[in-house]
Amino acid sequence: MGSSTALHTSAPPTALDAAALRADFPILGQQVDGSPLIYLDSAATSQKPRAVIDAEVGFLTRANSAVHRGAHTLAGEATELFEDARAAVAGFVGAAPEQLAWTAGATAGLNLIAYSLGNATAGRGGVASQALALRPGDEIVVTESEHHANLIPWQELAARTGAVLRHIPVRDDGTLDAEAAASVVSSRTRVLSFPHVSNVLGIVNPVAELVALGRAAGALTVLDACQSAPHLPLDLPALGVDLAVFSGHKMLGPYGIGGLYGRAEVLDAMPPFLTGGSMITTVTLDEASYLPPPQRFEAGTQPVSQAIGLAAAVRYLDGIGMDAVRAHETLLERRMRDGLRAIPGVRLLGDADGVARLALSAFDVDRVHAHDVGQFLDARGIAVRVGHHCAQPLHRRFGITASVRASASVFTTEAEIDALVEGVSEVRAFFGVDR
Ligand code: PMP
Repeated sequence: MGSSTALHTSAPPTALDAAALRADFPILGQQVDGSPLIYLDSAATSQKPRAVIDAEVGFLTRANSAVHRGAHTLAGEATELFEDARAAVAGFVGAAPEQLAWTAGATAGLNLIAYSLGNATAGRGGVASQALALRPGDEIVVTESEHHANLIPWQELAARTGAVLRHIPVRDDGTLDAEAAASVVSSRTRVLSFPHVSNVLGIVNPVAELVALGRAAGALTVLDACQSAPHLPLDLPALGVDLAVFSGHKMLGPYGIGGLYGRAEVLDAMPPFLTGGSMITTVTLDEASYLPPPQRFEAGTQPVSQAIGLAAAVRYLDGIGMDAVRAHETLLERRMRDGLRAIPGVRLLGDADGVARLALSAFDVDRVHAHDVGQFLDARGIAVRVGHHCAQPLHRRFGITASVRASASVFTTEAEIDALVEGVSEVRAFFGVDR
C-alpha cells in the first residue's frame, strides 16, 4: 500500500476542491437514515448543480416559447438560447453546432442511427444514403461489454436487414481482446459500434485503434460516449469516429436530452428516423423533402429547457476544467480500486492495471448477493447501483448475474471513497460468510 498512500496524501496542483464544489449541488446536503448522503451512483444518473436547475427554471419562467417559430419576441429569445445551447454542447465535445442533433439521450441516439441505417437499406434517402445500406451477410460489430442500448438496436437492425451481428470479446482483466478484434473486424464489417467506457468496467477503450480498424475495413464507426462525456476532455472530431452519442442526465444535465454527433458527410447521407414537424422544407399530401442536419433528425417539438439546462451543465464542467475533473477522478479511481481489491472476498470485474480508467468499479462479494450489499451500504447512507447495469452479456461472461457498482463524480471526496471501502470491508462479517 506504500505507493498508494503517497498518492492519497499529495494531490496534484490541478486537482479540484471537491469539498467546496459540493455546495453547488443542493441534493448533497441531505441525510439518509441519519447518515450524510454519499452518492456513488453517478454512472446511472448524475446529480445536478444549482446552475443547471436555475438555467432550466430561468428559461421556463422568463423566456419559454416555441423555438424556430413565431414572429414574437419571446420566440426569438427562446430560439437564440436554444441555438446557443447547441453551440455550447457541441463545443464541449469539440464539434461545430451543425454536427450536433438533440436526442432524448444515448438510447434514443443509438436507435436513431440504427433506424436511419435501416431506412437507407430500404432505399430511403436517395443515392447519398446507399453507401449506408446493409445487405444480407454484411456484419455489424459491437463489444461484449455493451450496455443494452448499444446492443439491442443493432440486433434489431440485423434482423431487419439480414446483416450478421458479431462481437469483440472482453478478456478476464476487462480489456478488449485486441487480437480477436483484428479478426472479427473484416471487409464484411459495415458498422463498428463500441463504448468509449463500459458502464461496468470503467476502462477507457482504445478509441484510436478501434477507429483505425473500422476505417481500414470501410466500416461506419459509432462511439457510445455516455460514460466518458462527464469525466474526460472529449474531442470527438479528433477521435475520428463517424458518429457518437451521449446523455445529458449523466453529465450533470437534465433528463430527456442528449446529443448525436456526426461527421458532416455521414450526417448528410443519413435519412431521418423520426419524421414530422420542424424537419422539413416542403410537404405535399404525397411526399416531403427534408432539412439538412441537424434539423433533419429533430422532428417535433424539442426539449428546449433541457437543452438550455445541458448547456449550463457543460459550462459548469468547463468552468472547473475537464483536465482538473480528470485529475481529481483519477485520484478517486486509484483510491477506490486499491481499497476494494484489498478486501478479502471482493472481486473487481475487469481489474486490469496499466489502463486508463474512470472512478467506477463494479464488484462481486463472495457469497453475498449484490442487492444485500446495496442495502447494507444504504443503511450507512451510501448509494451504489446493484444488478446487471443493463449489461447482461458482460455479467454472464464473468459468470455472475449481478454486481455492485460504485461510481464517482466531480463532487466525490476521498473520505467518501474511504467510507465505501470501509462499508464493503464489513459486509461479509455482517452476513456471516467471512469464515
Ligand atoms: N450507454 C452506456 C454506456 C450507458 O451507461 C447508458 C446508461 N446507463 C446508456 C448507453 C443509455 O443511456 P440513456 O439511458 O441515458 O439513454
